[in-house]
Formats: sequence, C-alpha cells, structure tokens
Amino acid sequence: MPERTPYIAANWKMHKTVAEAAEFVDALLPRIAATQHDVVLCPPYLALAEVVERSRGSAVRVAAQNMHEAESGAFTGEVSAPMLLEIGVEAVVLGHSERRQYFGETDEALARKAPAALAAGLEPILCVGESEEARDAGQTEGVLERQLQADLAAIEPAELARIVVAYEPIWAIGTGRTATPEQAQEAIAFIRDVLRGRGGEADAVRILYGGSVKPANAAELMAKPDIDGALVGGASLDPEDFAAIVEAA
Ligand code: PEP
Repeated sequence: MPERTPYIAANWKMHKTVAEAAEFVDALLPRIAATQHDVVLCPPYLALAEVVERSRGSAVRVAAQNMHEAESGAFTGEVSAPMLLEIGVEAVVLGHSERRQYFGETDEALARKAPAALAAGLEPILCVGESEEARDAGQTEGVLERQLQADLAAIEPAELARIVVAYEPIWAIGTGRTATPEQAQEAIAFIRDVLRGRGGEADAVRILYGGSVKPANAAELMAKPDIDGALVGGASLDPEDFAAIVEAA
C-alpha cells in the first residue's frame, strides 16, 4: 500500500484581511518548521498572494476556496484556475458544503470544476458529506456515493491519486459536534471503497476528515487507518491551535 503523507488544510472561509493573514503566517511558520506533513492554507481570494509570498520556502502550500471551471469569460465575480496559478496557488477547495448550501454549487458544476482544476495543474480538495437528516435516515453512504460518482464523473482513473477528498459531515461543521473517530473512519473507508470501484490508485488518495477538528480531538481522529489528515475551519484561525493540529497528524 502506498505511504500517504498526512495532509492538514486550514479553511479560513470569509475570515482574515490581508494584514491578518500575514500576521498568521508569521506566527505559524516557526511553529511548524520541522513538519514533514502537507500543510495547506485556504485564505479568502484577496489574501492568497500575500500568503503565497510570505510562506515561500516553508512546508505551506496555498489553496483557493473555490474557482470557476472556465479559463476566462463573462462570469462576473468569478475567478479561474489560470488566475490562481499565476499568483502561486497550488490547490483549490471544491464543493464545500457552505458553497453547496448557500451559493447553489451543484454536482454538475463540480463535475466540470474537478477536471478543469486538474488540467490546469491545481490539486482539487473535493468536499463531500451528508446532512444530519440523511445520517438519521441511514442514507450516509448513499449521499457520499452519489456525490463522489457525480463530482468525479469526468476524472480518469489514472488521475484519481492527484485528488484530495475531504469527508465533511454537514452536522459537524462549525457546530462543535465532531464525528467520533469510528464514524469518521467508517465513512472514509466507504469513500475509499467508492474510489476503488472507479479504478486507479484509491489507496494513494489522501482522504481528510473535517468537522469541528480541534487540538484536543485531532490525534485520535487521524490515528484511524483511513483518515489521512484534516480540513479545519474554526480552529485553523489561531496559529497555535492550527500548529497543534499539524503536529497531531
Ligand atoms: C470547514 O469549514 O471545512 C470545517 C470543517 O469547519 P469547522 O472545523 O469549523 O467545523
């Protein structure tokens, strides 16, 4: 089985000005100087260039929180992969539940965005996850399978290992209600099985857990065999907390 390097990503959502982002990077870098893990910061668009410049030569790579699938065009308010690449962005979060819920992100759009990101040379971090109602109705696996099959429909098996998947149960995001390590492992093992069914190197794909990860629960979540890291929202806004989560991986 291929060795999977732990992957810890900070989703800042709509938090931090450029000045605050710079301050965060300066505080984080000395705290993670020795890490061998993949550390990815996902600031708002306006802070991307500052975070790229300030983290040069460190373990940190930078991701956007969304992108449009076209290279350019009449899409007011959107940002494309070539624009992100030009300023040194290396990855992009796709399909975060907040984008699905509040901004009408669809599986059809994600099926275009994922291959467009890969073709441009960006690493997609694809988010999937079930609502509380779906979990209570025993539909977790059905939801995950449907999202994965739809969103990755245009991805060739040979390209699968270039994608990072984040399992983010909606009921655990920003609620303080973390999935138990067993619940997260079960869902992530299922995601890996779905990927295996698509062919390609499913065992090489990094699959993260996201949903109220904190320094206090990170180690036991990431100790599970299929959980390769974390996508962290609230706790990633504080450099000390985020560094502690990186260290726990
Ligand atoms: C997220 O936004 O992806 C997330 C997991 O948020 P939080 O850690 O705050 O639950």
